[in-house]
Amino acid sequence: MMSSHAVMGSSQETNTLLSHIGRASSKNAGFVNMPVYRGSTILAETLEEWNEAKTNDNPMANYGRFGSPLTKALETSMCTLESGVGAVVFPSGLSACTHAFIGLVSAGDHVLLSDSVYGPSRQFAMNVLRRMGIEVDFFSPTSLSDLTEKIRPKTRVVYVESPGSMTFEVQDVRAISSIAHANNAYVVMDNTWATPLFFRPLEHGVDISIQAATKYIIGHSDALLGIATANERAWPHLRAAAHSFGETAGPDDIFLALRGLRTLSIRMQQHWRSGVALADWLSRHEAVSRVLNPALPSDPGHELWKRDFTGASGLFGVVLKPMSPVQLSVLFKTFTLFGIGLSWGGYESLALLVDPLPTRQGGAAVVDGHLLRIHAGLENVDDLINDFSNALSAALKAR
Ligand SMILES: *Cc1c(COP(=O)(O)O)cnc(C)c1O
Repeated sequence: MMSSHAVMGSSQETNTLLSHIGRASSKNAGFVNMPVYRGSTILAETLEEWNEAKTNDNPMANYGRFGSPLTKALETSMCTLESGVGAVVFPSGLSACTHAFIGLVSAGDHVLLSDSVYGPSRQFAMNVLRRMGIEVDFFSPTSLSDLTEKIRPKTRVVYVESPGSMTFEVQDVRAISSIAHANNAYVVMDNTWATPLFFRPLEHGVDISIQAATKYIIGHSDALLGIATANERAWPHLRAAAHSFGETAGPDDIFLALRGLRTLSIRMQQHWRSGVALADWLSRHEAVSRVLNPALPSDPGHELWKRDFTGASGLFGVVLKPMSPVQLSVLFKTFTLFGIGLSWGGYESLALLVDPLPTRQGGAAVVDGHLLRIHAGLENVDDLINDFSNALSAALKAR
């Protein structure tokens, strides 16, 4: 099933890029990696130099809040990987989502979000944007006609995430972008699942692409960071939002993100391989009713995934047949390799019982049964399958 995608689209080129972008050894005493710059004040030696550091849109450009050479290294690396003209780092993935949004909207505007977006992004729209006089609606992630019906002259942003959080619907991002642009709206996409290695939103019409770098880019569950990358049309709005709100990120976290980029490709290949193998095994287990993973040929989103994506990450859903609370408790107690916890994208495997329904308004896939969100980490995949097999057997035997 991985034959046509066994090696991702531009893998050789991308692997080489990942080893070389955002480095400047000759400027850093020969060291392979950029140093961590700590600081607020950045001194100039002459008045002329001080004045030259100012830019038209930012008279304070030479100030620590706007980043160091290390920050610039990550931002320009992301522009290269996402085909953007400008990128900004944020202290968390959610912060990147909310500031991308707020830079584009004004009171009286209307915004549309896919019904399957990351819960906290949805809460931000409902709790904050609505309070600011912005109308918020949700559309079915897989229905272009629903989007066409709900889009209005005042729609300023169409916000998407593909595959969707928890339910993994694949969206036709190119078609959604065409509809949005015909209406003069911007398209913002949360691209955390695929990373820029497996999907490049800006090449499919998206105006701002967001990475929760907390997940795969940092990749070791040891820091939080967000990055938003914009095309020419959206860049002034994104930059202004980040600057106006005083958003900035810590130097150590930026260092970890740059370090994560070096091994991103090799890690993603393994997450992909293990995720598909585990999902495929689970789809044939008697305790499982359905697997939600677009990389499986049986998935309703598979054709679109194959058309647009060059790989799959290790995150997917499993719907279990009904189990008692005791059985669910035994399942999680028996796992030795799968941890129970939020976030994902690290080297370790995770399993989490989730319930998307209470927050959704219809349109996103209905899940009948216990939905587990699984992250296939970098452990040996046979060990992961064995661990799952033991846990499911123990749960089936329990009462
Ligand atoms: C985790 C996540 C975020 C938020 O990232 P944080 O760094 O935890 O704030 C945003 N979008 C998606 C899809 C995520 O999975």
